[in-house]
Amino acid sequence: MPMKRKSRGRSKGGKGRGSLVQCSQCGSLVPQDKAKKIFRRTTLIEPVLARELRQKGAYIPSNVSVRYYCISCAVHRGVVKVRAKGERKQRWRHGRRPRPR
Ligand SMILES: [Zn+2]
Repeated sequence: MPMKRKSRGRSKGGKGRGSLVQCSQCGSLVPQDKAKKIFRRTTLIEPVLARELRQKGAYIPSNVSVRYYCISCAVHRGVVKVRAKGERKQRWRHGRRPRPR
């Protein structure tokens, strides 16, 4: 059967039902292997002030928050992009573009 994507849009492989996560933007429940996981560093200090303090050698603590996005919200926010038909089956390594063949 022809498939639109090699992974069927998920990363679960042959395993059965997995856990669900809630989308951080719209609140819909999506499978964890299908959702896009985004790490964001958050600080309580404003970025302009933080830059000044960092120049003076201060340590600025930050928290790492994890956000999950459903596919439609991830596309809307620019986390993932719509790819051309030939490009769809290429696998992405973290943060890198696939090598042209
Ligand atoms: Zn969503």
